[in-house]
Amino acid sequence: SLSDRLGTVFDRLRGRGALTEADVRGAMREVRIALLEADVALPVVRSFVEQVTELAVGQDVLRSVTPGQMVVKIVHDGLVEMLGSQSSELDIDVTPPAVVMMVGLQGSGKTTTTAKIAKRLKDKQGKRVLMASLDVNRPAAQEQLATLGAQIDVATLPIVAGQMPVDIAKRALQSAKLQAFDVVLLDTAGRLHVDQQLMDEMQAVARIATPTEMLLVVDSLAGQDAVQVAQNFSEQVALTGVVLTRMDGDARGGAALSMRAVTGKPIKFAGVGEKLDALEIFDPSRVAGRILGMGDVVSLVERAAETINQEDAEAMAAKMAKGQFDLNDLRMQLKQMAQMGGLGALAGMIPGMKKAQAAMAQGGVDDKMLVHMDAMIGSMTPKERAAPQIINAKRKIRIAKGSGTTVQSVNRLLKMHKDMATAMKKIRKMGGLKGLAGMLG
Ligand code: GDP
Ligand code: MG
Repeated sequence: SLSDRLGTVFDRLRGRGALTEADVRGAMREVRIALLEADVALPVVRSFVEQVTELAVGQDVLRSVTPGQMVVKIVHDGLVEMLGSQSSELDIDVTPPAVVMMVGLQGSGKTTTTAKIAKRLKDKQGKRVLMASLDVNRPAAQEQLATLGAQIDVATLPIVAGQMPVDIAKRALQSAKLQAFDVVLLDTAGRLHVDQQLMDEMQAVARIATPTEMLLVVDSLAGQDAVQVAQNFSEQVALTGVVLTRMDGDARGGAALSMRAVTGKPIKFAGVGEKLDALEIFDPSRVAGRILGMGDVVSLVERAAETINQEDAEAMAAKMAKGQFDLNDLRMQLKQMAQMGGLGALAGMIPGMKKAQAAMAQGGVDDKMLVHMDAMIGSMTPKERAAPQIINAKRKIRIAKGSGTTVQSVNRLLKMHKDMATAMKKIRKMGGLKGLAGMLG
């Protein structure tokens, strides 16, 4: 995998005095292969590697960090730069109604994203939003949007059978003006593949609707195909931004890097689930971490370093160096998390953590989660804490009873511990907590 490959590169570099041009070129050869494996388009990889090499060779190696850490930092910063250093919000600051048009292939997530954006505009910015579906190809596509609208309490344009997309768009604009809506979201039809008829339709709608935002919705799991799609759309319509969907899946973020490079437009949002609140402002630094295969280990360590005192950090680093992270350690971590603003603040930083948290929340544990987990670990024997793998079904029932929780909760706790142990191994690869903290300082 990408992280393994980078890990190998950094191991090789560790302990050397400074980054020579040969060092950088050697490391970049691996980075190049790794990025290709992460599904970043070849021309994008080429220019990225070129840029970063130039940058790295020109730079002094800081005394407090290893060459390997230095390369991580430079590659990371390079990725952030390429992804667009600052995130950008929707541009709806025009005389109402502002028109936002969603385009993309069928199944990319246009309709879902339309509803997500509508909900966000309504809830966070108090906007009056009207949604209209221009998808007359797919049966029940307009009804799908109406159903979503009802769920989030956002108005949808009444459906008139037999109307063409351009006419629906006209009607949406008229309605919006008459009823004083702030924003009109136009959800368009997709195709399985880009074709000229689709492009003509998009252009015709754009001419009459004059959108301030034309967002290309792309499935982040689509890999190289997504690059071609983005290329085609960006040549034919005036895109203003990109939304990457299914970022909750196991796409490593390679698509994000390609999208930005191919369209030249900012990635504005990331879809992170099927639910209508699963939309996030695109965070370049987080995605850069993901491309590097470190989750947000970097920022986790950054925050942890502020709170955990040096002795704790060293003791933890020593344990990690031995590849041990048992439930006693998890318990200690939970205490520290509570000090650092709770699990919510940490969600999404550690790979797997977010899923664990969502799962816990679904089980209704949310608020008291840290307390419950502490109680579960408290109900275990010292042997179980040190070697969680011995916890069988019978033991789980006992632990659940003892802590006033359920076997399901115990399972989630154990899953979370496993995810964290994996994340800890990644920190170890980076030279330990102390080394990482030094790099950030
Ligand atoms: P459209 O054909 O482009 O309008 O795509 P839809 O909005 O109908 O979405 C197709 C499928 O993808 C639906 O099942 C959605 O629930 C799902 N989907 C959309 N966005 C996301 C996302 O960010 N994450 C996940 N996991 N599923 C998504
Ligand atoms: Mg649709």
